[in-house]
Parts: sequence; structure tokens; C-alpha cells
Amino acid sequence: MEKRVLVLNLDHYPIAVVPVQKAMVLLLMEKAQQLSTYELLEIRTVSRSFAYPSVIRLVHYKHIPYKGVLLNRANLFRRDRGQCQYCGSIKQLTIDHVIPRSKGGKTSWTNLVTACNRCNVLKGDKTLEQVGMQLRTEPFVPSLSYFLASYAERQAPEWLPYLDTAMLESSTK
Ligand SMILES: [Zn+2]
Repeated sequence: MEKRVLVLNLDHYPIAVVPVQKAMVLLLMEKAQQLSTYELLEIRTVSRSFAYPSVIRLVHYKHIPYKGVLLNRANLFRRDRGQCQYCGSIKQLTIDHVIPRSKGGKTSWTNLVTACNRCNVLKGDKTLEQVGMQLRTEPFVPSLSYFLASYAERQAPEWLPYLDTAMLESSTK
């Protein structure tokens, strides 16, 4: 499978994850420098081979307005690590409004949690106090760094040294 490449801004702050082709273009055009490679991989063309980049850094600072992580089903499950936030189950997952919509609960990162079907039905249209249920973790707005760190742990440990500050930030939120 093709590996993804972490892009850091000039100040070393992670700003994007790109396909390797895009990273190679940035490197060949000297718009970025290679900081780290995937050691056992290489990129071959007809005439030569290149180291396979894992982390690159832009040569010029890029101002990017940060819009936050998109709130959707996949990202919500990812934030909650694919576990029901009431019982920890990983099966039949759905989305639960902590404060029900009928009671004015919003569709937001801090009012939505991953829940299994059973807990979702059990809780129904009531509040946590009414049903005596508890959340395992307080729902939070995830940062890009949080997602990067959890991706890196599974797929790209080469990124981890470059995510130190990012991980500290996500663990304190
Ligand atoms: Zn559950």
C-alpha cells in the first residue's frame, strides 16, 4: 500500500498529509526539504530510485486558515476510537446526541458521541441524569494534530518525532 507523507510548515508545524506523488513534486521543485524517509521503501523510475519521503518541510512559510476538523460520522467515530462512549462496545455503532435534540441539544463535536445501538436505544430521548448513564470521556473538539498522532501510531511511526508538540497539545484537551 502507498504511504502518505506528512507536510510540515517552515516552523515545523504539521499542516497537511499528501500522497507521495505530491510530496515528490514539492521536493523536486525544491519547494520542500526531506526530513525523514520510510527506510525500507524506495521510489523507482526507469532510470533511478529515490528515497521514499515520510516527512517533508516547506521551504517557505505558508499561511493557511485553519478551518478545523470536519464534523462527520467517520471523523466522530475516529475521535472516539471506534468505541461506544457509554459501554465501550465496538459493535453496531451509531451517533448519539448527549443532550437530545428534542431538549435543545446541538449537533456539535461537544454534544455528539459514538454510541452502540443498545446504549442509544437505552438512553432514548432522555438526558444522562434521567437514565443514570455516564460518558467514559468528555466529548471534545479534535485538533488536526490529534488525528495525525493517532494515524501515525498505526500507520507511520516515522512521523512521531515530528508530532511531539502536536501530541502534547491533543492530550491536554
Ligand atoms: Zn454501548
